[in-house]
Amino acid sequence: MREKIRILILEDNAADAELAQRELEKAGLSFVASIVAAKWEFLQQLDVFDPDIILSDYKLPGFDGISAMRVAVARKPEIPFVFVTGEMGEERAIDTLKEGATDYVLKQRLARLGPAVERALAEVEEKSQRRRAEENYRTVFETTGTAMCVLGEDSVVLSANRGFERLLGYAVGEPEPEVRFKQVVSRDGPEVEDFYRYHREVLSGGGTDPVFFKTRVVHRDGRTLYVLASMGRLPGTRNSVLSLIDVTREKKFEGELKERAERLRDFLTVASHEIRHPITVIKGYTEMLEDVDIEIPEDMVADIYASMDDAANRLIRIVTELMDMSLIENDGIELDMTSCEIKELVLEAATDKRGWRADRHVEVEVLSDPGLATVDRVRFMYVLDELLDNADKYSPEGSPVSVTLEARAGIALVSVLDRGPGIPESDRERVFERFYQVEDALNHSKPGMGLGLYIVKQLLDAQGGKIWYEPRDGGGSAFRFSIPK
Ligand code: ADP
Repeated sequence: MREKIRILILEDNAADAELAQRELEKAGLSFVASIVAAKWEFLQQLDVFDPDIILSDYKLPGFDGISAMRVAVARKPEIPFVFVTGEMGEERAIDTLKEGATDYVLKQRLARLGPAVERALAEVEEKSQRRRAEENYRTVFETTGTAMCVLGEDSVVLSANRGFERLLGYAVGEPEPEVRFKQVVSRDGPEVEDFYRYHREVLSGGGTDPVFFKTRVVHRDGRTLYVLASMGRLPGTRNSVLSLIDVTREKKFEGELKERAERLRDFLTVASHEIRHPITVIKGYTEMLEDVDIEIPEDMVADIYASMDDAANRLIRIVTELMDMSLIENDGIELDMTSCEIKELVLEAATDKRGWRADRHVEVEVLSDPGLATVDRVRFMYVLDELLDNADKYSPEGSPVSVTLEARAGIALVSVLDRGPGIPESDRERVFERFYQVEDALNHSKPGMGLGLYIVKQLLDAQGGKIWYEPRDGGGSAFRFSIPK
């Protein structure tokens, strides 16, 4: 508030104006006054003098108090307008109050003027404080990171902040239709029922303590979101305020962590089994060979050594896969890129198939020769070997395995094809993930740790290539990979 109250007095009678001022002084008000009688002066002073309050006579020559009040209310609605008049009937006075006047004081009872002015100014101050407080709350409401809304008793969203609009895609108010919160809560679980329960709890409770709960809500575009909600009663009403914090990402992350932990546990089961098996073979045979009491026929000794060799190779393979994984995860893969004839590499990989089932034959079909490409030769061969070994491992004995080679725009396309069981649709992307196996750990029927395709994918990615799976017409798998030329 300013140091001195600025009072604009609309009065044609100088003596009355004087009397009014005296009354105000008597009431102890510190003020400056501007006295005007004509319309033009009044309008001008409304801006120039910038009053805190207007006192106006009712009847003036050439300009009446009612018109002055209408102008003032229209232009400066925040300035209180008090009639000071000798001739205003009760009814007329009430009408002027309805139209926007703040008060009226009869000239015959001028002692009321001081208190009336003080009250009017106090009301203005209170209103502006309330407005400031509302603005502050509005700012808090809007700028808080959480989505907030006010719910009516019937769960209609009465008002909502921008966070709510952002979270759920509903703009509450014009030109949106009414939004009921139960429409927003997910319907494919207990959430709607839970929400009603919490809402009832909030409305029936005496205090304003909020209830906290987790729920799922559905964005207008159909996405389901996980939220932490708190709901509390607005004092003195049947409305409640609801705030929502989006924890969808955290929830997803939590799910991923859980899945990773499960996958790691399965991996440890599988890996220990994989390692124990060849060790048991080697240990069993060495004990047998060392035992002087056991006489082993000549022809069996060769078989024993071959089995021990297989077991040792299996262990080497396991260790290599583990080392490759560790390299990929920790230091990244170092490549030795050279220009190679892709056809040669494919033919070489397809011919040297020791360790495969004896009657397996790999057909190579060069559909078009891609010529040279820059690759890491060793890693490229590893990829082909791994895919061919899987084709052998997962398809029945005697069924055909083949490789096709094609030149496509800017790439060499290699496909490893088999007539095995294929891969269920839901697993087709996932088989390239670390430790992923289609069979679960308990039914582990084939050797392997779920690392082969993961390493293959990482090696190809590092060489600028891509790998994907396609089911084959007539059954079986096609693993295709491209490598830039
Ligand atoms: P593993 O070393 O355990 O075989 P991979 O990463 O090489 O692991 O393969 C992951 C999973 O993909 C395997 O568990 C297997 O179920 C499936 N898979 C891979 N290749 C084939 C294939 N040619 N036919 C059918 N399933 C396959």
